[in-house]
Amino acid sequence: MPTDYEATSLRDLLCGSVSTSLIGQTVTVCGWVAKRREHGEHLAFLDVRDHTGILQVVVDGTVDARSEYVVRVTGTVSHRPEGTVNDRLATGEVELTECTVEILASAEALPFQLDDRIDTDEQVRLRYRFLDVRRDAMQRNLRLRAAVNRSLRAAMDEQGFCEVETPLLWAPTPEGAREFVVPSRLHPGEFYVLPQSPQIAKQLLMVGGFDRYYQIARCLRDEDLRADRQFEFTQLDMEASFVTQDDVMAFVSRAVLDAAEAVTGVRPGPIESMTWTAALDLYGTDKPDLRFGMQLCDLSEVFAATDVKAFGAPTVKALRLAGGAELSRSRLDQLTDAAKELGAKGLAWFRITSDGLDSPLARFLNDTESQAISNVDGAEVGDMVFCVADEYAAACKVLGALRVTLGSRPVGEGPHHYVWVTEFPLFEGIDDDGNLLAAHHPFTMPHPDDLELLSSDPVKVRSQAYDLVLNGWELGSGSVRIHRADIQSQVFSALGISDEEAENRFGFLLGAFKYGAPPHAGFAFGIDRLVAIFAGEENIREVIAFPKTQSGSDLMTGAPKSITARQIRDLHLKTTKGS
Ligand code: ASP
Repeated sequence: MPTDYEATSLRDLLCGSVSTSLIGQTVTVCGWVAKRREHGEHLAFLDVRDHTGILQVVVDGTVDARSEYVVRVTGTVSHRPEGTVNDRLATGEVELTECTVEILASAEALPFQLDDRIDTDEQVRLRYRFLDVRRDAMQRNLRLRAAVNRSLRAAMDEQGFCEVETPLLWAPTPEGAREFVVPSRLHPGEFYVLPQSPQIAKQLLMVGGFDRYYQIARCLRDEDLRADRQFEFTQLDMEASFVTQDDVMAFVSRAVLDAAEAVTGVRPGPIESMTWTAALDLYGTDKPDLRFGMQLCDLSEVFAATDVKAFGAPTVKALRLAGGAELSRSRLDQLTDAAKELGAKGLAWFRITSDGLDSPLARFLNDTESQAISNVDGAEVGDMVFCVADEYAAACKVLGALRVTLGSRPVGEGPHHYVWVTEFPLFEGIDDDGNLLAAHHPFTMPHPDDLELLSSDPVKVRSQAYDLVLNGWELGSGSVRIHRADIQSQVFSALGISDEEAENRFGFLLGAFKYGAPPHAGFAFGIDRLVAIFAGEENIREVIAFPKTQSGSDLMTGAPKSITARQIRDLHLKTTKGS
């Protein structure tokens, strides 16, 4: 049945709403000609398409409407004659007869066919994106995205969050990626920075007493593009005052699960949590794909005093592949090469056979070592066990990646598995100048039990930062923020950020904190990624109306482009290229 809003001044209803309940009524629809078939000079059939479906239209005589012409058709809703019902169409039982067809716009032959079954070159699709989005698949994806946004907004509103828009022309933000800058015409030689996130703005809103803020925010980072990354992306960004990490995780879980339910019809169970250390120990990564098991096994103790050179390393980790004994030698070589590319010295493999371990290394192992390998993760005859011996981080990285390669499945394939990863380290390494690097951003609150370690052993400090992971993709991150000046200056000094630099970069935030900053915490997750997973798409471009290519170009508009000499002058710029 047509809904109230379908009727406009030009049409009565949408094509997909024409059904047997309207038999005998005269209706007007509008749309594009998907197909035209002529039966001699006296009868023509048009398939008229809008975003809701295709309606067959029967015209007495000929009609000069070719493919993709825009038409307005008035006719009588009729049963299709017996034997001509089309089960594959929702409107397959009906057609419009005695039609008059008005041509609203003609169309040239399209550069590619709008058929989801045809694999059109992506460059062509992006060049003509306005046509590409006429296809069912793109219509579905973008409408799915709208449904996700709708339910996220509803969930945030219902939880008392207030939507506030923050500026795009802004100052540097603390996420640490390369920034897009915008030259100022009125302030020669000065630049705005496009926000990598509304991080500082939302913290200021907490000082401003908003209590709970959210925004479906566009964020911009000038980083290399990948399947799950574009220059500009959209986050559900939120922040709340007088809350703990658990409160924030509950707000976000509610929003994500509502969105999942809205678009899949099924509400996933509660989202489990795991510490960062457990994620690394068991899955070798801080974004574990929990749709499959294959946990890593730690054999470091067994090999602590080994005579086998290949195993002489602080960490020995193992991974069992059920049924993997059948892997060919060339596949094993491939996997070994992949492991080496990730920095491993090698990849040891052991076939579990009824006669014991089968491997070039087997004869070097003592009984305890052989036994331990034979028992990895309940291994059985016919399985394969892989081992990597290295520093802890390297062993995790290599076996974590191998686990994903061997267990992998398309990112959108269900059942979807969400997991919170908590207690990230506060610092993730040391830069070239010997300063610690913030794992999240410099405003992240250390774990309350680790405050003492800040001065004595900062690398060991855990943070109150948490990520949400879905099917092995990091959806987003958040943290409890530092709202105390003393802790903030300790963290800045560990990061090698001088008072002067802190003042320069974040002075307006630190200044604001002097006027009564409530304890606060927040989170942001990528809507592009979430929708891509719901849509079963590996590349977020498929859920973005007008994405950029891998090299950052917009093939449709031609951006980025040179600007006129006049614009360059007005902006007080000098370029070394183009213009
Ligand atoms: N601003 C952070 C980000 O974009 C998220 C947060 O901490 O709220 O990753």
